[in-house]
This record gives sequence, C-alpha cells and structure tokens, in this order.
Amino acid sequence: MTTSAAARQQTPSGYRILNEADLRLYLAAIPAVAGQLGGPAERWTIVEVGDGNLNLVFIVKGTTGGLAVKQALPYVRLVGESWPLPLSRAHYEHLALSHQARLAPASVPAIVHHDAALALTAMELLEPHIIMRKGMVAGTIYPAFVDHITTFMARTLFFSSDLALSAAEKKEAIASFAGNHALCKITEDLIFTDPYRVAEQNRWTSPWLDATAADIRADLDLHVAISRLKLKFMSSAEALIHGDLHTGSIMVTDTETKVIDPEFAFYGPMGFDVGAVLANLLMAYFASAGHERTPGDRQAFEGWVLGTVDQVWNGFAGKFLALWRSEATGDAYPLSLFPGDAGAARLETERQAYMARLFQDAVGFTAAKIIRRILGLAHNIDFELIEDAKQRAVCEARALRLARRLMTETASFTSIDAVTKAARELREWQPEF
Ligand code: ADP
Ligand code: MG
Repeated sequence: MTTSAAARQQTPSGYRILNEADLRLYLAAIPAVAGQLGGPAERWTIVEVGDGNLNLVFIVKGTTGGLAVKQALPYVRLVGESWPLPLSRAHYEHLALSHQARLAPASVPAIVHHDAALALTAMELLEPHIIMRKGMVAGTIYPAFVDHITTFMARTLFFSSDLALSAAEKKEAIASFAGNHALCKITEDLIFTDPYRVAEQNRWTSPWLDATAADIRADLDLHVAISRLKLKFMSSAEALIHGDLHTGSIMVTDTETKVIDPEFAFYGPMGFDVGAVLANLLMAYFASAGHERTPGDRQAFEGWVLGTVDQVWNGFAGKFLALWRSEATGDAYPLSLFPGDAGAARLETERQAYMARLFQDAVGFTAAKIIRRILGLAHNIDFELIEDAKQRAVCEARALRLARRLMTETASFTSIDAVTKAARELREWQPEF
C-alpha cells in the first residue's frame, strides 16, 4: 500500500478536506456559528492562513464577528501525503482545549463549534493578537505574559494531577488521551532522538555548527541524559500537558496571553511544558544579539527576557504550591498521614522537595527543546531570521552550549538564578569558528 493510500484508509467516513467555498456553506448551516459571524454568508471573508506545520486554519470574518476554524489533514501539511498523521489529533486538541477552557478560561480561545467527523474546530478569533515569537523577534516586551502563563501552567497541570484528582479519575483521564500516541511519537523522534544521531531531516547552520553537531552525536553522557528525559516523557503520566508550549503556540497583545494549538496534549511530565516556555525564552535571549536593535532596546529586551525566565519558574512554583496547599483533593499525599503541626511542617518540606524535582525535570526539558530547534528538523524564526549565517551560528552555538550544560550537569542547577547566570555569561562567549 502506498502511504497516501494508507492515509486515506485511516480517514473516517464523513471526512473531506474543506476549501473556502465548502467552509462557507458548512458554517452557514450552523445557526450558532452563522449568528456569531453576522450578515449574509456571501459577505463573509474566508482566508486560509495556516502558517503552522500540520493543519489548515481559516480566518472567517462576518459583519459582527470572526472565527478561526482549524481542520486537521490526514497527513502532515508541511510534508504532504507521504507523512500520514491521524485525524484523531483534532479530537485530542478539542478535548485538551476544553480542559484548559474550564481551568484557565482567560488563557485560551473560546470554543464555538466542534465537528468530530470533519476533524474541525471553530473557535474565537484572536484579534489583534499576534504570535508571541513574531513579537519577540521584533524586540517587543510583554510585561503581562509571565503572570498569565504561570497561571495557565499552574492551573492546567495541578488540576489534572494526582494532587487534585482521585486515582480513578486520573486513570480515566490518562486513558482518554492515550490514543494520541502518533503525536507523542513525533516528539519522541524529533526532540528526543534525531538530533543526537544522523537523521535525514536534521539540519543546522553549516559549516559553522558542523563540529558541534558531530560532538553532540558522539557525546555519550548527553545520550544518557536525553534518553532519561525521553523515558520520563514516555512514562511519567503526571498531568495533562499541552505538549507543544513554545512561543509559536502563544498569541499575545500588550494585555492578553492566549495559548493555542494543544494537539500534542497527553498525560506526561509537567516539566515538559515548563521547559518549553523556558527554552523558547532563552532562545529569544540568545537570538537577540543577531537582530537589528539599538543598544538600548537590545539591553531592555534581553533584561526583560531573562527576568521573565526567572519569574516563569518562580511564579509557576508559587502558584502551583498555593493550589497544593488549598485545593489538594487528590489521592496523593493523604492528609491523614501528616497529622498535627509536625505533620503539616513535614508535608510542607515535602512540597518543596517535589518542586525541586520538578525544577530538575524542567531544566532537562529546556535543554532538549533548545537542541532540537538548532540541530533537528523544526527550527524557529528567532534564529532563522538572522540573515548573516555566521552571526546566526554564533547565537545558536551559545544556546547549544547552555543546553549541553543544562542537560549533562542538571543537578548543579539548583535554582533558576543558576540558569539565568549561565545564560548571561554565555551571551558574551565567542565560539571559535
Ligand atoms: P498548527 O497546528 O498547524 O501548527 P496552529 O493552531 O498553530 O496550527 O495555527 C496556525 C496559525 O493560525 C497560528 O500560527 C495563528 O497565526 C493562526 N491561528 C490559530 N488559531 C487562531 C485563533 N484562534 N485566532 C487567530 N489566529 C489563529
Ligand atoms: Mg500544531
């Protein structure tokens, strides 16, 4: 069977890929949607804008409102029919978005309509929000971001964990996402495996990073470290994680922060989401040296980014701990085992120890997310838009050096201060090439 035949075979009946004209007819027949858009359907503007790698996204605007309509394709959009990918990811994205909307409604677009057969979700149009990564490439500072993202992470992770759920609820919840394994496999391959071996899809800023890429393919300490992280990703069903929480999955204005695109969601290690945010901030920090900015703007931007790295961890930890102290309705850590003042004090010490372990996980995953963006398949515009390739390689080499230290010397990074200090030092490092 050819792969495109395989892709079609997975396609359930009732599914068809919609074009703009199909979508207009489809949406016009749904009263709730048509009402929200307003005016006659012929007057709606419909533009496909998907700049992501996997799906179609249509922006639909009527006379009174707008929608973003996302439809999964039976294959990876970026590559085509030769890389089949199950439509069921739209189901998991909808399920995760519903969970997030319940727990952190201000942090996600509202769901307006979902059609399982078409693998389609219509949601609130985020306007004038822009993708955060684009804003950061332009040097924009987002002071409200840290409070918003830490609330999102603390609430979505805490309330899906054993600290908040009964054992039965937790296991049912794990089961409800267990079928999203094709998306997990992409992460397992592209983040945790390929950058560390010869793989056809890998690329990097050549020739400057050739030696570093070869070093990383030969560094067995690093291979042990990434393998431990991969195992944790595969086996630690701690909480419902977003699974792809980079700055390209966040849309912002000066005052709002919205998380989109949770199609990689499953029950995994919490540190993976926290590490994704930290990694993408740190890459923006190292990329800053390669973008045209006045010295004053550069200093302000870099200072804000590193301050944000610090506050993302501290803010998240503080909010997560506060939830644990006040809303621990789960079956983990039964209070009856920690009676009286002595019990309460011991439990508080244990909470701190739990957060210290979670921090270690986050440091490791931060490193993994940086390395894959520089040596693997999917790169990011923070670095890619640095036109001078040698200058780009300098910025990337600094980020890689930090990532290698974070991954192989994780235990020596006992606080977020140690991470920002190492980043600040490496900002001035000149690689020899
Ligand atoms: P993919 O899963 O293919 O990566 P995304 O969910 O990341 O798709 O969406 C692709 C692009 O569509 C985003 O980068 C953003 O520009 C736009 N987009 C997605 N959702 C919305 C929304 N609710 N409002 C406005 N634009 C959106
Ligand atoms: Mg996506």
